[in-house]
Amino acid sequence: MNEVLLSQLRAAVGAANVLTDGDLSAWEQDWRKRTRGKALAVVRPASTEEVAAVVRACAAAGTPIVPQGGNTGLVVGGVPDASGREVVLSLTRMNKVRAIDPANLTMTVDAGCVLQNLQQAAEDAGLLFPLSLAAEGSCTIGGNLATNAGGTQVVRYGNTRELCLGLEVVTAQGEVWSGLTGLRKDNTGYDLRDLFIGSEGTLGVITGATMKLYPLPAASLTAWAAVPSMAAAVTLLGLAHRHLGAGLTGFEVMGQFALSLVDKHYAQLRVPLFRDFPYCVLLENSDQESEEHARGAFERLLEAALQDGCVADAVVAENIAQARGLWHIRESIPLAQAEEGLNIKHDISLPVSRIPDFCGETDALLQQQIAGVRLVNFGHLGDGNLHYNVQAPEGGDMKAFLAAHEEQVNTLVYDQVKRFDGSISAEHGIGGLKVGKLPDYKSKVAIRMMQALKKALDPQNLLNPGRVVPPAG
Ligand code: FAD
Ligand code: ZN
Repeated sequence: MNEVLLSQLRAAVGAANVLTDGDLSAWEQDWRKRTRGKALAVVRPASTEEVAAVVRACAAAGTPIVPQGGNTGLVVGGVPDASGREVVLSLTRMNKVRAIDPANLTMTVDAGCVLQNLQQAAEDAGLLFPLSLAAEGSCTIGGNLATNAGGTQVVRYGNTRELCLGLEVVTAQGEVWSGLTGLRKDNTGYDLRDLFIGSEGTLGVITGATMKLYPLPAASLTAWAAVPSMAAAVTLLGLAHRHLGAGLTGFEVMGQFALSLVDKHYAQLRVPLFRDFPYCVLLENSDQESEEHARGAFERLLEAALQDGCVADAVVAENIAQARGLWHIRESIPLAQAEEGLNIKHDISLPVSRIPDFCGETDALLQQQIAGVRLVNFGHLGDGNLHYNVQAPEGGDMKAFLAAHEEQVNTLVYDQVKRFDGSISAEHGIGGLKVGKLPDYKSKVAIRMMQALKKALDPQNLLNPGRVVPPAG
């Protein structure tokens, strides 16, 4: 049976692009190395028609498919399970920019394009594709769309969903839906595009997309501010919205312990101003006029913030190298945290107004329950998104800590998130990692609608089965 399918797959994409032997860990193991599965085969189509042929062959054989882009996902959604039954459908050979339409401010691309290459293609055309995240050198636009990725520019440009105008999708039956419109207005019935965005490969395979482009800013400036509390950081965000308007393109918060880990593991990065303050904030101001104009607006903002007391001290980068250095510190937090040892990660969102109380209460509850526990708290405060991670006490055995406390910590944090009207996944998705938690934190009605959509679009349950959608009953 498998041999029949494998020969059909070879006929569809060429024998060299159906991998069954050798080291397949690049496709079978997830980025955080939490899971190592076993694929029936890794199939690498080069066109939409080839994807459709692969899906039809798998559908006829009843073989489950795991779509995969750059395999940088953080919730175990893009790797096969251990059964050896699932086909990994890797989109990375579909990597062409199909068209750029500068007058319509759009770019139509293959789903397997690496994000960084799309940023570059837009820049080469004198335009901006603003989606930006630390995995941009390897993640693909198809994966960004499938997870509705966020990143560091959301406060101005929105999540991947807000940047997408049209999609091309291969359905679970192996048909091609060509929805690659560049329209900003289209009210002709249900928004199918938005169904597939954020569906993490469970409803269809994204093969192409039409994405929005923007004018390149004339100047981008970066500042680093030390703040006396999380409440002060929220006050600063309000001031930044008022003073910078649409110029505010980044607003990241970083807790003192998170920065101390960067200082400990990457001392050469010279983390500024963190020793005496509980949080620092990284702000970015992008201006359509000039660097002078941007600097003037930044200076007025920081003056107002110093006067208000929500900022204790601040530095503005003098040049691009300094700005990159400050962003590099922010982006090094996850790596420094990994250097320090295993930890329990939470990618949560909350109404910005409630974040100070959430942190105050949840920090205290964790400290009460686990003496000496350390909190690596940082994230995209402009979007109400925290990476609220929990690390074992200093010198503790990390593996033993995880075994003893992971479930307890997750329940405590997620219950608090629920109490403060937040979400247990802000930007990383549900995948296989959080699907078991979803019924506790999403309404029964919402889950029943998700199950109904899944059944309608993928009645054989072949696309990424077991991920995202909790089983009925
Ligand atoms: P994969 O990991 O290959 O797949 C992710 C999911 O999408 C899987 O469920 C897969 O089945 C599905 N999928 C992939 N391609 C397709 C397709 N063409 N059609 C249908 N389904 C598909 N995320 C953020 O939101 N913000 C961040 O700031 C951020 N920072 C990160 C930093 C690092 C260092 C890393 C490693 C990850 C980060 N992420 C972040 C996680 C983020 O989800 C991924 O980096 C990215 O969006 C996934 O793209 P990918 O191509 O690697 O997808
Ligand atoms: Zn993030």
